[in-house]
Amino acid sequence: MPLGASLSLHELTRFYEGFGAVKGVSLSLEAGSFLTLLGPSGSGKTTTLMMIAGFAEPTSGRILVNGRDVTHVPAHQRDIGMVFQNYALFPHMTVAENVGFPLRMRKVAKSEAADRVQTFLKMVGLGEYGRRYTHQLSGGQQQRVALARALVFSPSLVLMDEPLGALDRRLRLQMQEEIKGLQSELGLTVVYVTHDQEEALTMSDNIAVMEGGLITSYASPRTTYETPGNRFVAGFVGESNFIRCRVVEAAGGGSTAHIPALDVSVEADTSSHAPGTDAVIFIRPERLRICDDSSPQVNQLAGVVTGEIYLGESSMYRVRLGPDLEVRVKRPNRGYGKPVTVGEPCMVGWRPADAIVLAA
Ligand code: ATP
Repeated sequence: MPLGASLSLHELTRFYEGFGAVKGVSLSLEAGSFLTLLGPSGSGKTTTLMMIAGFAEPTSGRILVNGRDVTHVPAHQRDIGMVFQNYALFPHMTVAENVGFPLRMRKVAKSEAADRVQTFLKMVGLGEYGRRYTHQLSGGQQQRVALARALVFSPSLVLMDEPLGALDRRLRLQMQEEIKGLQSELGLTVVYVTHDQEEALTMSDNIAVMEGGLITSYASPRTTYETPGNRFVAGFVGESNFIRCRVVEAAGGGSTAHIPALDVSVEADTSSHAPGTDAVIFIRPERLRICDDSSPQVNQLAGVVTGEIYLGESSMYRVRLGPDLEVRVKRPNRGYGKPVTVGEPCMVGWRPADAIVLAA
């Protein structure tokens, strides 16, 4: 039985003097699931979160928590836990007092509160730190205190706004795992804001990609990454190649796209586009292959390697296919084909199933 509540937003908007920060956001989130709002700066993520929390009044629309309309319920009556990037701990209180604060506000009996504080401090790995002051803690420890404080009163919903933004990469990865672990263990419903796409992919049950105050994609991490529904999402999440093409009617019913920059045609699933339309072939760098005679591909183009970036377990190559067309190809560094040298010619290929034709 999840502790968390379900959440639904209906046509939520927020205008500032005519400017639409959020322009009609609708979504529903199952109890116990993890939703990430992902999007570029200014796309409306924080504003959406603030409306759910009750810190910003919607211009229109409705917010339901477990089916109950809370649109006009004051923030402190919404039973929501929040974690921000800058911890926002009280410096004059000990760690235990910080974590116990929401319980004091809710007039929970002292002995029960002390037990709960200790339980949640242990849960975030700080069982021995209750008497310290927050300035005696590292950034990661402070963020764990903030997390314990947000969870200690068993909120129906937990909202997190870039909670790991201030931490170094290693600590961030560790905290991602810890947050995810607590979320599944306690069955929490979480709405998480980040502009770190990797974080969104690893933590979420679903990702809502926001652009200009609207949700342009709502899907699982796998779908968001592998079969994005539009060019914005394809370009925003992960590395991408976009090759301009024109959909052509192929003889014999096959699907074909013509690449004007190279004046060649390739096999592609163009079924959702009318012949004659301009489109782009979208393909991830790791789906492109540098091929030789022993590994021919259906679609194969000749190019010249113009750059290499060493990434540790893999390398990213830039390959020029024509005067106006360059692609990036990612290849594991061990056990794959012959060496690639910058300045040398090579063949780049892909399977039609590994590419998607998207509207230009
Ligand atoms: P970031 O990733 O930079 O935090 P965000 O996606 O969270 O961005 P919001 O903070 O929700 O974006 O802001 C959305 C838009 O609304 C921005 O263009 C912002 O300038 C505008 N905005 C936000 N708060 C206000 C305000 N109080 N008054 C006027 N405009 C605002």
